[in-house]
Amino acid sequence: MFEQLGVIGCGLMGGSFALALRRAGLVKRVVGYSKSPSTTERARALGVIDIEAPSALMAISGADIVLIAVPVAATEATFKAIKHLVTPQMLIMDVGSTKRDVVDAGRRALREHIGSFVPAHPIAGREVSGVENADAELYQDRQVILTPIERTQTVQLQQAVDVWTALGCRVVKMSPESHDAAFAAVSHLPHLISFALMNAISGQPRGKDFLSLAGPGFRDFTRIAASDAKMWRDVLLSNHEELIGQLKIFQRNLQALELMISSGNSEALEGLIEQASQARARWSMSKHQK
Ligand code: NAP
Repeated sequence: MFEQLGVIGCGLMGGSFALALRRAGLVKRVVGYSKSPSTTERARALGVIDIEAPSALMAISGADIVLIAVPVAATEATFKAIKHLVTPQMLIMDVGSTKRDVVDAGRRALREHIGSFVPAHPIAGREVSGVENADAELYQDRQVILTPIERTQTVQLQQAVDVWTALGCRVVKMSPESHDAAFAAVSHLPHLISFALMNAISGQPRGKDFLSLAGPGFRDFTRIAASDAKMWRDVLLSNHEELIGQLKIFQRNLQALELMISSGNSEALEGLIEQASQARARWSMSKHQK
């Protein structure tokens, strides 16, 4: 049981964590801070936080657990803003979609306090952002990836495991590098492709007419294109090296398909579709078994 949660970034992810922690009976008081005072005020009006803090530093004053839930590019400035009140006993976590840059920012800004920080990425979320969409069940039955580094204190790491487990998450630990390599492939690249597809179709002279005919397959494929632009701008830029590597692999696969279609090679085309179909079925089965 924690006495006080300090949430920096009272949006979808931070607000949902506050609601979930309170619902699980794991915290007595929630203090929140967001860049715009109106967001912090809304968070209090919605009952997501109890007390509005005037700064990130004040949001962590007296907290024994801190969640940083800001866009990844704002993480370093947030660490710098709070470093003077970080204590060795405090558990500090983030929820950023990239981990190498967040850990590097933590090393630079938190210095000797880096041990209190447990980098986290809950594999949960929505296309909609903002505190109005905060949901106490957002993290239920989801994975959370923790990417501790050599200086992460074992007490805080265990606390992080316990908190996310109590919120209904399955905890997976890996290095920040492995995290960013994997999520470039299974999250960042799919978002990039979805953005490109929507723009490619909607930017055509007849795009509007084409889109009016689109069905459920198109809806499923492009759901993530409706994501928050600022958040995804930061994520794609933060993990650009891994992402560009994945994009090159993808482009080679796309070119192979293009070649088969332009040359009318039906056997090879069927083979590649079959390969994809089987890989998708295996993936789906493995997810259901977990
Ligand atoms: P969100 O709903 O837009 O919330 C972000 C919050 O951060 C807003 O309250 C914003 O305040 C605040 N903020 C922005 N810059 C700040 C700063 N410099 N100092 C203090 N507060 C600041 O976004 P979100 O979806 O919760 O995303 C937050 C983090 O979660 C991101 O790092 C993202 O990578 C990660 N994440 C998101 C998802 C998802 O599906 N959404 C999934 C996994 C991880 P204002 O309202 O005042 O601008």
